[in-house]
Amino acid sequence: MSELPLDLVLLSTPIGALGSGRGGGVELTLTSLMQGLAERGHRLTLIAADGSCLPAGCEAVDLVTLPGADQPSWQHAAEDAPVVIPRSGLLASMLAEALKRAPAADAVLNFGYDWLPLWTTPWVSVPLFHLISMGDVAAVMRDAIESLARWDQRRLAFHTRRQAADFQLPSPARVVGNGFDLGRYELRLATDGPLGWAGRIAPEKGLEDAAAAAAALGERLLVWGLREDPSYAEAVEAGVPAGTIDWRGFLPTHELQRDLGRCRALINTPKWNEAYGNVVVEALACGVPVVAYDRGGPGELIRSGETGWLVPPDDRQALVEALDRVGQIDRRCCRSWVEDNATRAVFSGRVERWIRDGLVEDASISAQH
Ligand code: UDP
Repeated sequence: MSELPLDLVLLSTPIGALGSGRGGGVELTLTSLMQGLAERGHRLTLIAADGSCLPAGCEAVDLVTLPGADQPSWQHAAEDAPVVIPRSGLLASMLAEALKRAPAADAVLNFGYDWLPLWTTPWVSVPLFHLISMGDVAAVMRDAIESLARWDQRRLAFHTRRQAADFQLPSPARVVGNGFDLGRYELRLATDGPLGWAGRIAPEKGLEDAAAAAAALGERLLVWGLREDPSYAEAVEAGVPAGTIDWRGFLPTHELQRDLGRCRALINTPKWNEAYGNVVVEALACGVPVVAYDRGGPGELIRSGETGWLVPPDDRQALVEALDRVGQIDRRCCRSWVEDNATRAVFSGRVERWIRDGLVEDASISAQH
């Protein structure tokens, strides 16, 4: 028997309008998922901050935008940071709008990494699902995720097993990966290009290690991304010979993939437990091997010896040696891995399965309501 399409309310990040870039990797996830779910015939309503735009292919999505103050990001929060919700904040008004519309829908799917929607979930009869976009960043968020998992873990999904391992969960985590529109990334086969690095310019991304590896090889490093922490960027530049870093700014996807595709290798050197690693997969989609620390999402996404090389975390010398071996990687294998594991069709299929499984009545949980 074929399954009926779902009616889903999607709750965007309460940080910045969709399309502004301020939501980081979550914006790409949400865009790709909306396109994928729409292609699968589901009916979607998106609740997002004022100024948000619907991506191409999502014209049928019902967009509801709301004014309000941005939620502070948990990205750089201290372990003991409290929950802060600004006056007239987007988080509460977006959640209220989603709950208001939920009775006419099958489920609400939340993309924001924040406390209020997690805490609310067991107390409302509408099914609220959460795609968790970061690992463990602060105790209060860890508690909220773990306590929801104890109530009904089916309401949670993660991007990678490495990310999920940050949390104590009663059952194996539901891992959905991420999805990309492969039509936007062109496979390039030339192997004589420069070295590249892409990501937010911020300490948890470890640009200094990639710069040191390029300097040790006497090469330039092309760097793309949002300069989130200017003093950090200056310190990294001062730590290597002048001219090592070639700042290329923050580019839209079509330009980023064009430039990325010319690279011989992408270096990825996270200092934190990266939940996924969009730029890793974007590089692979262009046929670019990735040399990365075996940490977080990138450590799970890269097949060492097949799509790049994984080296022990924080070992700069191992990075340098692995960069010498990128010629052994067949760039077609990089692209094939993405085709098999991280297209938006694969991703949206996994997300649909997760929601359908979570909607099956569980007598032990309904009894707690
Ligand atoms: N990005 C971009 N232009 C750039 C550099 C990066 O659009 O010049 C995007 C990239 O496509 C990716 C996001 O920024 O989707 C970074 O996501 P990632 O998962 O790598 O890291 P996050 O910032 O979420 O920690």
